[in-house]
Amino acid sequence: MIDENAYDVVVVGAGFSGLYAIHRVRQLGLRVRCFEAGDGVGGTWYWNRYPGARVDIESMQYSYSFDDGLQQEWRWPEYFSPQEDLEAYANHVADRFGLRSDIELNARVNRLAFDERANRWHVSTENGHHVTAKYIVAATGSLDAMNLPPFPGLESFGGQWYHTARWPKEGVRFDGKRVGLIGTGSTGIQATPVIAQSAEHLFVFQRTAAYSLPAYNRPTDPAYERAWKADYPQRRAKMFGHFAASYTENDQYRSVFDYSPEERQRILEEAWAARNGLLFMRTFSDISTNLEANEIVAEFVRGKIRATVRDPKVAELLCPTTYPIGAKRICMDTGYFEAFNRDNVTLVDVRANPLAEITPTGLRTTADEYDLDIIVFATGFDAVTGSLTRMNVTGLGGLDLREKWRDGPTTFLGFLVAGFPNLFMIHGPGSPGVLVQMITGGEWQVDYVTKIIEDMERSGRQRIDTAPEWEQRWNVEVEEAAKRTLYNYADSWYVGANIPGKPRIFMIYIGGFDRYIQRCTEQVANGYEGFVFDGSVPAEPR
Ligand code: NAP
Repeated sequence: MIDENAYDVVVVGAGFSGLYAIHRVRQLGLRVRCFEAGDGVGGTWYWNRYPGARVDIESMQYSYSFDDGLQQEWRWPEYFSPQEDLEAYANHVADRFGLRSDIELNARVNRLAFDERANRWHVSTENGHHVTAKYIVAATGSLDAMNLPPFPGLESFGGQWYHTARWPKEGVRFDGKRVGLIGTGSTGIQATPVIAQSAEHLFVFQRTAAYSLPAYNRPTDPAYERAWKADYPQRRAKMFGHFAASYTENDQYRSVFDYSPEERQRILEEAWAARNGLLFMRTFSDISTNLEANEIVAEFVRGKIRATVRDPKVAELLCPTTYPIGAKRICMDTGYFEAFNRDNVTLVDVRANPLAEITPTGLRTTADEYDLDIIVFATGFDAVTGSLTRMNVTGLGGLDLREKWRDGPTTFLGFLVAGFPNLFMIHGPGSPGVLVQMITGGEWQVDYVTKIIEDMERSGRQRIDTAPEWEQRWNVEVEEAAKRTLYNYADSWYVGANIPGKPRIFMIYIGGFDRYIQRCTEQVANGYEGFVFDGSVPAEPR
């Protein structure tokens, strides 16, 4: 008799990677069930529906490549899609490929336990589902577990408060309201100008100023769309061979020091006028690796802030000076700095005067009190590991993933954790994750993992694992790649520095998507070197 609750594969999360994983697993002829916490599909683009939410990569590339019919028929109205267009796209994909019948919505996974005698995972959800599966594909997203710092007094607040990553579907009305926005990362920077348009007054509480570049969003030019569609296969192929899984017309750039100061200025001005944020960061080859080169570009960007913000004191406060440009994810905005020229927007420096408490009527810093009707927390995420550890995962011998990762995450090739067999992470710690274009990166990882599943099913294997020596070796590769850059100079979520007590480890493989593909592929081609099947003895790393 068939056990209805026994699946070959459980996919956790119906974001972009999860949706594709369902599709691929089905193509293998295996039984799959996807559990999704939200009441709709889209993952990041389902949850992050705050005002101004928009992707920072051109939509012609930030989209699936696996089906040419899909990429030819879909139309992106804007260069950088707003949240609603990305959510609509996810829904279209779910319908077009008939994925919904395998997705359980409103089902947050709260327990994953490996049964080592049966080689099966037991999966439970908050709303009472209990199933088993041979394999887990954890497509839980790098930026899912929201970070709400424990501000004292929040429960006493008499107004409304929201976290940007759990924004209500019906939206929030700001007109006539005094609004406090905490956090000036990519999210706060996108939300500020939009909230400012309708709020009676907006107070932006800034702890660290951010580098932000103009998005130059615009309606999609039909000629640009035609060029992409005519050339999609070639461009996608280039993306799969590109260090950031992106397509750029020209990656021939040189050191800042190859140019005279006047030439640099001209190049930067041209790039500022013509290139969106992420491309601007590729103006010179050494921006991310040489502090002196970085400072030249950082100072150029500070100059743009000073030229935009009329009040020199506010402008200076908005100038980031404590870390190199690009060492935190560069932000892209539409009118962020301009918003501080409005009479109804006030910047509050909570570096100098930290937030002390939330009060029944607003918020108190160590210097002042602010009466507020609404507080918006744009305070980010327990990134990369949070969505995995919050599922209460236990592997061999009942080992808890939180315990295993107490001193920082360890993985082999960013997708497998020793002692947690048959559990495949997409965009997990040690993978290129958010430092590459994530839809393409996720597609590649899903293809890789489903190929492993296919191989295992064909050869009758029950269990795939790795060994701590191989994790250590991969961690060294991840660390070495990070050391070649300036990323460690910033207290960012990349290193877990935004969460008090989280071990400081660079959690993302920055050696390049192309290099990552090569490394993953060669380990498999070398007779699955570094992997352990069915409890066999692992090979020693060379
Ligand atoms: P974030 O970059 O972590 O920024 C969080 C902000 O909250 C920071 O300004 C932080 O200040 C502040 N904050 C946190 N705790 C605080 C506290 N206790 N007191 C005062 N301020 C506090 O989070 P995010 O803006 O949500 O962005 C996260 C990532 O999501 C981005 O880096 C990006 O990868 C992605 N994202 C992308 C887009 C896009 O595609 N355009 C849009 C939004 C987000 P400190 O810097 O001082 O810690």
